Amino acid sequence: MQTQLLINGQFVAGEGDVEAVLNPASGEAIAQVAEASLAQIQAAVAAAEAAFAAWGRTTPKDRSTALLRLADAIEARATEFAQLESLNCGKPYLFALNDEIPAVADVFRFFAGAVRCQQGQVAGEYLPGFTSMIRRDPLGVVASIAPWNYPLMMAAWKIAPAIAAGNTVVIKPSEQTPLTTLKLAELLAELLPPGVVNVVTGRGETVGRPLISQPQVRMISLTGDVATGQKILETAAHSLKRTHLELGGKAPVIVFDDADLDEVVAGVRTFGYYNAGQDCTAACRLYAGPGIYDKLVADLSSAVSGIRFGEQHLEGVEMGPLISERQRSRVAGFVERAAAQAHIEVTAGGKAGVGSGFFFEPTVVAGARQDDEIVRREVFGPVVSITRFDEVEQAVSWANDSDYGLASSVWTRDVNRAMQVASRLQYGCTWINTHFMLVNEMPHGGMKKSGYGKDMSMYALEDYSCVRHVMIKG
Ligand code: NAD
Repeated sequence: MQTQLLINGQFVAGEGDVEAVLNPASGEAIAQVAEASLAQIQAAVAAAEAAFAAWGRTTPKDRSTALLRLADAIEARATEFAQLESLNCGKPYLFALNDEIPAVADVFRFFAGAVRCQQGQVAGEYLPGFTSMIRRDPLGVVASIAPWNYPLMMAAWKIAPAIAAGNTVVIKPSEQTPLTTLKLAELLAELLPPGVVNVVTGRGETVGRPLISQPQVRMISLTGDVATGQKILETAAHSLKRTHLELGGKAPVIVFDDADLDEVVAGVRTFGYYNAGQDCTAACRLYAGPGIYDKLVADLSSAVSGIRFGEQHLEGVEMGPLISERQRSRVAGFVERAAAQAHIEVTAGGKAGVGSGFFFEPTVVAGARQDDEIVRREVFGPVVSITRFDEVEQAVSWANDSDYGLASSVWTRDVNRAMQVASRLQYGCTWINTHFMLVNEMPHGGMKKSGYGKDMSMYALEDYSCVRHVMIKG
């Protein structure tokens, strides 16, 4: 198993503390990964800075070719990546193989095409005798910090637009899930010039913080918790570094009485529990109209009770464990506190699974009220709350009454109502009669405390580049 850092095209053993990396389905250690030392972090940033001089001046065509090769190489090793991702995250193997790896390859393919097709304002004489043009130029070294829920996908979301735009990168995967990014490093070393992408491992405080603090870093890109985003902004404030923040979520799902109940149940059963609910867009906060509420609670609870959870290769497995014991006790705490309220009923699941893995039953919490913790805070586990609403205004105002603003959905057969409600929701994305579907052509990113960076799409290329004006006299 590849556990070494990638610095300037060379693999080197980390010189810092050693962290055990676990298989969350068994709780057993699967690798020991050493953190980068401060000197190694500095060397990685220096390598990225040196590589920028040439990489930043390559043509879009050449960068595109490199990204396409990376996509092909990832695809060619799909089963190895899927095995490793599934082992390190506890995800069902077939989901990693069939859902995630193709999506990861597509991120590289999309940005390979996108960087050759950027558009902008026309050049022209906006003052007589002076010709203005707009350039989009790379920024330099980007420090990228990734979370543990979709490690390889998050690495792709961070690396592909950044290097497509001509930047160079030092990426730090989560200390809990570094293995697929470390494997990706093998392909990065083979297919990119030295220093264009460097990989350092370690914890947030010991490696993440010194990495983002390096003076040559021009931009910090984080996907993670709101509290981590706040810490990163504090660090960035000293040097006014550009930041790209993708933080948490608490997606409202508004179900009107005229919605197709079977579609809602099937949708929430999938989109509320995929990746054990460890998804910032998870369909976790349902608001149901008065005419559909009771049937929705009954049918969803029965459907959710049938979700097969277990270890990665179990036949028909749909859901794996949580990432860690800590995460499981956090989720259990939310459910226990909710269940202790007289108006709440846990209608499916509610308990930790048996065995040494970090499993938690797929859970439905019915009767939740707008002010309840379970409605307001991000659980990041297989837990969906259902709240009854009486009228449209109440549903919209409750949906918007959240610190978060990442994803939302509206379920109704009435197109006018769907469009009206969608236009009033304060979320980076609103799905209608579906949830969770992402495509590389469209942006993913939040509002409010969910952050403001856009991943995927042309908007990510904009985030990872800066607009410049060049004016010529004569
Ligand atoms: P986290 O914030 O604990 O960790 C994210 C990364 O930040 C890790 O690599 C960690 O080592 C690093 N880090 C922590 N403190 C740091 C510091 N002071 N300086 C620099 N780096 C630091 O988040 P997590 O627990 O890994 O992931 C779960 C969170 O991520 C959830 O809140 C989830 O909603 C969010 N998330 C958001 C999106 C999105 O697109 N908006 C996608 C996935 C996950």
